Amino acid sequence: MKDQLGREINYMRVSITERCNLRCRYCIPSDTPELDFERILTYEEILKLCACAAKLGISRFKVTGGEPLIRRGCTDFIKRLKQLPGVEQVTITTNGTTLEKHLPALLEAGINGINVSLDTLDAERFHDITGFYGLEKVLAGIEAAAEAGIPVKINCVPLKGWNDDELISLAELAAKWPVDVRFIELMPIGHGREYAGIQAGDVEKIIKTKYPGAVPTDERRGNGPARYLRIPGFYGCVGFIDAIHEKFCSKCNRVRLTSTGTMKPCLFYKSGTDFRSLLREGADEEQLLSAMKETIRGKFQEHHFYEKEWENQGEEKRMSQIGG
Ligand code: SAM
Repeated sequence: MKDQLGREINYMRVSITERCNLRCRYCIPSDTPELDFERILTYEEILKLCACAAKLGISRFKVTGGEPLIRRGCTDFIKRLKQLPGVEQVTITTNGTTLEKHLPALLEAGINGINVSLDTLDAERFHDITGFYGLEKVLAGIEAAAEAGIPVKINCVPLKGWNDDELISLAELAAKWPVDVRFIELMPIGHGREYAGIQAGDVEKIIKTKYPGAVPTDERRGNGPARYLRIPGFYGCVGFIDAIHEKFCSKCNRVRLTSTGTMKPCLFYKSGTDFRSLLREGADEEQLLSAMKETIRGKFQEHHFYEKEWENQGEEKRMSQIGG
């Protein structure tokens, strides 16, 4: 369906857990979210909401978290999500640490694509950023997924002083394997505020300087607003998501469902609709559809990251609680 500004909303990011097995310093650096199952939607509840969303024309879903693969039953959930009428595409974003183990079940479930978050290729630095050793497992997961022929995207957040000397090596993963590598601007959300990111445009300059033959491509390569370069000799493309410095809100096609059942029309704003209460108070499908229509229709025009006068409307939760 269209929102009040005429944007077609056809994509929902669905967080199934706030918990993660890593502690990335700009995302979820230390404490473990409480294991309070009551707060988190059951798979049945999530599927009910996804079925409503599909009825409203949302046909593409990204399963996220926290780390979605650590919630028991994740791959069965994906299988059921894929089978809902109107659902055309289900993809997942993972830190990759257990990807190799879950890959057969993901493929069996009919997953359409896998995004793997990876900020460094150095094992010690991986530990410094994520709090754990495990780079080898992530790389094995990426390789296995690429070999299986499933579309794979590697997402990297460039951070000043942490991985800015590795951007070329990370981009070159698209020459090693048939995967796209995307650089995503750090957003001032949660602990992201404590670090300095690098503008996507600056990363692009670094890549183009090393690879002057790189050319922009208009091919559509996902659900999001990334722009891509094709580089001679590379299997995959290298992409850039300028979430902050080049607002692409006018083309936004997404809403988010947090693991606690809030539908957020925009990452920036703290507001959203509490579908967990609606579900648990016994709302029927008609009532859910009506609340969802209202949420989608009322989607905000644009985000206001780094704008002082909008600060009090900004999201206070961290990315792992929203569903990055
Ligand atoms: N665990 C899954 C994963 O690693 O892909 C899904 C959740 S994780 C929160 C999703 C993505 O959000 C990761 O790529 C992570 O780097 C990114 N992220 C977390 N905090 C961020 C921030 N402040 N700005 C930009 N990206 C962020």
